[in-house]
Amino acid sequence: MATDPHLSAARHVQARTQGCEECLALGIPWVHLRVCLSCGHVGCCDSSIGRHATKHFLATQHPIIESFEPNETWGWCYIEEHMLELPPELLVDKG
Ligand SMILES: [Zn+2]
Ligand SMILES: [Zn+2]
Ligand SMILES: [Zn+2]
Repeated sequence: MATDPHLSAARHVQARTQGCEECLALGIPWVHLRVCLSCGHVGCCDSSIGRHATKHFLATQHPIIESFEPNETWGWCYIEEHMLELPPELLVDKG
């Protein structure tokens, strides 16, 4: 799999919340969770009402997320809109 240049923006982060940060504040449900590998923001997927992971990218330009679902380790680059395999040292702890 090709190396993604935007991986340079990714770090080994700790998830800031265990659910979507904005949905928790609003009291609304989400479908799946994504974690930002620049800052640890947890947001919901595009199948969710809030689409907060995408909104976080649009607001911050933080390019790389990892799935925050248990047993999923795939990454996504919002800039190139492709999935990527993340280096093991970047993977977020999912408690
Ligand atoms: Zn990229
Ligand atoms: Zn949300
Ligand atoms: Zn972020």
